[in-house]
Amino acid sequence: MSQYFSKRYQDLEPYIPGEQPQDQSYVKLNTNESPFDPPKEVIPVIREAARNIRLYSDPESRELRQAIADYYGLEPENVLVTNGSDEGLNYAFMAFSDEDHPIVFPEITYGFYPVIAKLNHIPYETFSLRDDFTIDIRDYEGLGKNICLANPNAPTGIALSLEEIEQIVRTNPDNIIIVDEAYVDFGARSCVPLLYRYDNLLITQTFSKSRSLAGGRLGFVLGAKELIADMNTLRNATNPYNVNRMTAKAGIVTLRENTYFKNSCQTIQFNRRYTRRALEQLGFEVLPSSANFLFVRIDRISGEELYLRMKEKGVLIRHFSDPKITDWNRVTIGTKVQMDIFLQKVEEIFREQDEEKEKTK
Ligand code: PMP
Repeated sequence: MSQYFSKRYQDLEPYIPGEQPQDQSYVKLNTNESPFDPPKEVIPVIREAARNIRLYSDPESRELRQAIADYYGLEPENVLVTNGSDEGLNYAFMAFSDEDHPIVFPEITYGFYPVIAKLNHIPYETFSLRDDFTIDIRDYEGLGKNICLANPNAPTGIALSLEEIEQIVRTNPDNIIIVDEAYVDFGARSCVPLLYRYDNLLITQTFSKSRSLAGGRLGFVLGAKELIADMNTLRNATNPYNVNRMTAKAGIVTLRENTYFKNSCQTIQFNRRYTRRALEQLGFEVLPSSANFLFVRIDRISGEELYLRMKEKGVLIRHFSDPKITDWNRVTIGTKVQMDIFLQKVEEIFREQDEEKEKTK
């Protein structure tokens, strides 16, 4: 840390993203990207948009916001587009929480929430999950505080029902409820329909997972016009050209190619079921996931050792150091071929473990 670093941030612990090796030598199942390319129409529009790269993008991203609004049956004023949904989450925290308005989220959830709370000097509180890693919605009913929930939750993959989310939104009418739907397209119910009835709800979504555009950095926030306008003030005060012109066009095209999108989400769900069964047969405990990943553990090997041995064998999975989940690993669902390699390497590690045990007898 330099001697010049502001005191305000000296205690800040940044979010640690999953490894992003820049060579292609790993089977990459660690950061929940899509294993599929975006629809083929995307590259030509990116190329075309790049012709005007000397010009700034539209600071209001009108065409993209209109496309997202049309897709969800909303108006462009209900939509804020952001550089990945992380940026939208940051504005949602910044805009509505402060020293007098703390924010609450589960103890085990997306690790970025405590980081943005600290960054913005927002006090936060957490509720533990139940022993089976589910969220107890009674903790959040009528709480009278701002709340942020990932649905499905990360890294567990477990989803709340629309009714449960509604119950939380309805019983906290004077507070903002942020629902992070980064993984919603893989099997959970989106709470977009609740936007017609509640003006204290904000939904963040991303093009990084189900729409194969992680590298394009595109996310969005949906909510009541007044809330979106407040967040837009912060966006304009931070980064008015936050979505670049290539990404904006790519986003519009991926929304249009809906059949492609549905098919890739279905394939992920199929591969998830396949992997889940195979892991259970190997003796793993696997949480019921509605996301494009599985959260898994097994007695015979620690979470960290499995992660390290998998990495040696060229397969990256995600291990978290938080002691509450250190026995577990999160495995992104990829193609069937990738999942077969993953499973084969797991079996190989178990065989090696058995051999090592034999030797030391
Ligand atoms: N929410 C959750 C729960 C996530 O896991 C992620 C991905 N790390 C994000 C939001 C943010 O993704 P992005 O900024 O790529 O939209």
